[in-house]
Amino acid sequence: MFDLHGKVAIVTGGNGGIGLGMARGLASAGASVVIAARNLEKSRAAVAELKARGWAASAIPVDVTQEAAVDALIAQTLEHHGRLDILVNNAGTNIRQPAHDLTIAQWHTVINTNLTSAFLCAKAAYPALKRGGGGKIINIGSMMSIFGASFAPAYAASKGGIVQLTRSLASAWARDNIQANAVLPGWIDTDLTRGAREQIPGLHENVLRRTPAARWGVIDDLAGIAVFLASPASDFVSGAAIPVDGGYSIQG
Ligand code: NDP
Repeated sequence: MFDLHGKVAIVTGGNGGIGLGMARGLASAGASVVIAARNLEKSRAAVAELKARGWAASAIPVDVTQEAAVDALIAQTLEHHGRLDILVNNAGTNIRQPAHDLTIAQWHTVINTNLTSAFLCAKAAYPALKRGGGGKIINIGSMMSIFGASFAPAYAASKGGIVQLTRSLASAWARDNIQANAVLPGWIDTDLTRGAREQIPGLHENVLRRTPAARWGVIDDLAGIAVFLASPASDFVSGAAIPVDGGYSIQG
């Protein structure tokens, strides 16, 4: 039910953080994983790590905000592997400024990296997924898909948008046997949140206090949900937004 042998997966931003945690999960279940991010050196290190564990992986450099680069990513994946079954839209960034200090350029950077990229990748992947008889799209939201963020309005808007994009893709492509779902991670220890902890006094302790599991997540906490949403086990799960947050979002 969870076997991914013979499947090809692209993980954007798979060279570190949550993307790498998901890539580990998919590769461990048998998928051949394409790590797609800008920093090729970092991607090669991630590929080496996966291969050292006996799993299949390769790297393709891409800036997911650029339509031509995204099209080339899909074309190269098909050229090398002959098929595409799983797309994880994980690449993301944040610029922490309240709305009154956020420039329009900063707004566009965050929206393009977190939201427009998912649209571009899904659109480019669709013909190959359909041709293969179906597929899985996993979009990465956030707690800010649910809650507002006074310190990160563009990020919260992009992550709210991810949920609605996911539902739209899920309903549009269900009859092509393509399931699109979103994962909403809680606070996970990565480069992104290390930056947040430096910028926001008390964040570390507040997360510990509020999270029922009483810990920060680690990137391997995202491996299981990636396998579930990429495998036949989730074939009737469509357009869902699933928190993986140690209970953060159910704490009143
Ligand atoms: P990291 O900063 O560790 O990883 C971000 C990844 O995105 C990197 O691999 C980076 O690779 C890639 N990336 C950024 N911009 C681009 C781009 N233009 N084109 C291609 N790749 C890009 O952060 P996280 O692992 O924490 O975040 C991953 C996702 O999870 C994001 O969508 C984030 O919003 C989300 N998330 C994170 C949470 C957390 O607590 N950590 C909580 C909720 C959601 P490179 O620089 O090489 O391009």
